[in-house]
Amino acid sequence: MTSTARQIGDSDRHTEMLEAVIERLPIGVALLEMDGTPILLNRTFRELHGIREGDEGRNFEQAIADGWMDDFKDDPRLLFKRMRQAIMSGREFVEELEIGDRTILVHDVPVDGNFILTTHQDISSRVAAERRIDHLAHHDALTDVPNRAAFSQRIDRTLANARVMQNKFAVLSIDLDRFKDVNDIFGHGAGDALLRELAVRFRNAADDGFLARLGGDEFSIICDQGEQPEAAASLADQLFAAVADEVEIDGQALVANLSIGIAIYPDDGEDATTLLSNADAALYRAKNEGRGTTRFYEAAMDKKIHEQRVLQQDLRFAVSRDELLLCYQPQATVSGEITGFEALVRWQHPERGTIGPDVFIPLAEQSGVILEMGEWILREACAEAALWAKPLQIAVNLSPIQFRHGDLALLVHEILLETGLSPKRLEIEITESVLIEDFSRAIGILRRIKAMGVRIAMDDFGTGYSSLSYLQSFPFDKLKIDQSFISRLSNSNHAQEIVRAVIGLGRGLNLPIVAEGVETPAQLSFLLDEHCFGVQGYLIGRPEMIDIYASMTGKAVDSGRRQAEG
Ligand code: C2E
Ligand code: MG
Ligand code: MG
Repeated sequence: MTSTARQIGDSDRHTEMLEAVIERLPIGVALLEMDGTPILLNRTFRELHGIREGDEGRNFEQAIADGWMDDFKDDPRLLFKRMRQAIMSGREFVEELEIGDRTILVHDVPVDGNFILTTHQDISSRVAAERRIDHLAHHDALTDVPNRAAFSQRIDRTLANARVMQNKFAVLSIDLDRFKDVNDIFGHGAGDALLRELAVRFRNAADDGFLARLGGDEFSIICDQGEQPEAAASLADQLFAAVADEVEIDGQALVANLSIGIAIYPDDGEDATTLLSNADAALYRAKNEGRGTTRFYEAAMDKKIHEQRVLQQDLRFAVSRDELLLCYQPQATVSGEITGFEALVRWQHPERGTIGPDVFIPLAEQSGVILEMGEWILREACAEAALWAKPLQIAVNLSPIQFRHGDLALLVHEILLETGLSPKRLEIEITESVLIEDFSRAIGILRRIKAMGVRIAMDDFGTGYSSLSYLQSFPFDKLKIDQSFISRLSNSNHAQEIVRAVIGLGRGLNLPIVAEGVETPAQLSFLLDEHCFGVQGYLIGRPEMIDIYASMTGKAVDSGRRQAEG
């Protein structure tokens, strides 16, 4: 045995055994005098620090200063000083030292007041594992950018710092437009690849900003450099520039588009939760006001969004609590003969009173409640019309969402059977948006509904794309010119030209045209001169409870449906 131990006492068998044990310990052990002169260095210790044979006896302090631990990141002499100070004052000295790419756990204890027992343990692999775990805990597995946990730690730190320094900083909420479509059309693999690529581009664009993926297609950046809001605005521009180039995935060129919402500390919130939710509110507005844009948070928005959320909550129970009701507005030929009614839904909110469909239909569409609601409306309108003595038309508006879920054609069929309404009397009103999202599916449903004998009307014509190809792609039974053109008839030649052209188009396609929102005799006489087929508007009648129109429907007011059923 090449013992590095000098004899401390008697060299009896026990001492030899003890030496042998110490020599073989898997932990580096050294016994030093107070000045650093080694009395004992075991094999692990020598290997750990690359101490060559013959060097063992050198003064430890001097030796490490000479480069035994030349990878040691601090000044080794300082290490020895710190260590000795601790020991002299009777304390243990425990420290993890970075030496090269290794981490060594140093643990020194005083022995007998005259010696230092130091153990050195290579904990590199444990530290590496810990770092890996820490990395995983704070990074998103898919994109390897920081995750939500890391984000909330970071925003807390940034907040604390900003409070002290009285700085402004920005939180950007970023969302991919129509990311769901990418997954649906190209598969989740492509969706993942797109997210990974975008994460790289965002990271480059974010520069000093702290980028995190909060989940799904939701990213966020904390921007605490530069003047706000200018810095946030220019960062947003860089993010848009970063996605300007197509992303190629599996030979497919995908174009990603973003919406960005921005909230600024302290103007838009003084804590993390408020800042984040306000950045989200701004994002929500960016999406609503045409995707692919940036919006800053505005306090006025807060109230509106809050109210909408509350309404959306209440809306979930509107059908089950029987809070919806239908008004009916007459439709007539241009010469004044009543041809039918359009059912228009109203919500009688227990606290807010009557709420119009322009307010709550979009909310119901967002939450999906429109499905339940639309079914109720259709059933209610058909059941009502079935009670009329005169076989007038009943027009019902359908939302695009109803075309995307369930079996709408089957539902129409069932409701017609259930209520006993002749299919010929039912007219479905749709807007172009029904055809925009999933054209072939929507056309398929419309064909099935039309095949039952139900009529299909194109509503609000002129406001959307007014695509003639949509008109050609399906044999519509009616086209309704949007009321905005009718209301401008008296003071806009342009509106007159459009209305004239649409009426001409209807004539050419053999498609009856109905003008919406006719309020004045002058408008009516214009439409009469142009040979418009039909009219609807306050001039003919407002949307009212159906009993108001009993003389038109021929329904006996006293024998309401509920009584008749009971
Ligand atoms: P819409 O289908 O184009 O309905 C016509 C709208 O114009 C109705 O508004 C009606 O009250 C209004 N209106 C009718 N005549 C006049 C007029 O002379 N002057 C003016 N200024 N307005 C007139 P309402 O009832 O507020 O409905 C708004 C929209 O909400 C409807 O537009 C329709 O898109 C939607 N909506 C209404 N009821 C339903 C429904 O049961 N289901 C679905 N999915 N949407 C509905
Ligand atoms: Mg309508
Ligand atoms: Mg309309």
